[in-house]
Amino acid sequence: MIGLYIHIPFCKSICHYCDFVKVGVKKESEREKYLDTLINELNSYHNYFDQIDTIYIGGGTPNAMTDNELIKLFEALKPIKPIEFSIEINPESYTHNQGEIFKQYGVNRVSIGAQTSDEKILKFLNRKHNNDEVINTISSLKQLGINNINLDLIFAIPGQTLKSINKDIKFFINLDIPHLSYYNLILEENTYLYYLYNRGRFSEVDDEKSRQMYANVIDKLTKLGYNHYEISNFSKQGYESLHNLKYWENKDYIGIGLGAHGLLNGIRTYNERSFNKYLKNTLYEKVELSIEDRITEELIMGLRLTKGINLSEVNLKYNINLHEKFPKIKEMKELKLIAEEDGYLKLTKEGIFLGNQVFQIFV
Ligand code: SF4
Repeated sequence: MIGLYIHIPFCKSICHYCDFVKVGVKKESEREKYLDTLINELNSYHNYFDQIDTIYIGGGTPNAMTDNELIKLFEALKPIKPIEFSIEINPESYTHNQGEIFKQYGVNRVSIGAQTSDEKILKFLNRKHNNDEVINTISSLKQLGINNINLDLIFAIPGQTLKSINKDIKFFINLDIPHLSYYNLILEENTYLYYLYNRGRFSEVDDEKSRQMYANVIDKLTKLGYNHYEISNFSKQGYESLHNLKYWENKDYIGIGLGAHGLLNGIRTYNERSFNKYLKNTLYEKVELSIEDRITEELIMGLRLTKGINLSEVNLKYNINLHEKFPKIKEMKELKLIAEEDGYLKLTKEGIFLGNQVFQIFV
């Protein structure tokens, strides 16, 4: 079975830290052209519809679209019968009517961009919502029976402290949410935050502090009964993101929409990232992955999962001996950054903090 990722790039305002593929909300006629192009692209994959078991509509801000636009997209998706159907939303744009549309078309998982409960920090990030909007969104979704909810949260934001992170955790846990994605803020070039940083307007949270924050997040959430199943993801039992698991388990998925990429039958697809170019010709390039590329991707993505990589499965799949192919595994084991347990190769507690360093040995 395969996944389907759909990118809706529109955002009503641009967050200062954002380096995702996004555009402003655009004129109605341009949004219409975008949706038409997107739906044509979707239909070009109709042969795969009966193999799709997860849909993820991400962005951008999918719920920056009007109700009619959402309906048009959902109508086009009707022939697909996924077991998990997710959409990302921003709380300030959410309405109960949107929730009803989600419900009507079978959306059963909603991911909300909450980031932090500190409203001063939200302003610093140029996020436009407040805590009441997060609370009301969750309550409306639950009222509609959509209980599989994720919150996207961020740590290591300038101004945050361990105390404020604990306050965030307490605030969000009280909302009884089964899945949390907790990301480390990265200062990406080409963002407004980076521009401000270069002008000395704030200091970055240093590595040690950021590591303490991450360790604290892991500690608190696991004690609260969340399974830390992926570097940045925590879930109550049975609420892991099935769609995102496809990325980490190196499974096939179709990616449609501006800047989306996909992986299908050993071929990576990369869509155009420029809005106008996408409208003319959706695909930027197709790259056939070599076996070496596939192994590297499988190991790097697989090690993001805390259960790790099934060694015999990978050895069998690629007809290799992982330890012989990557002798540095031994070194990483000696440094106690990776460990072998019950036939799985995984990052250790220490290795989780130094994931990128470990991943280098496979490149
Ligand atoms: S809402 Fe999301 S995609 Fe849009 S600007 Fe903010 S972080 Fe970026």
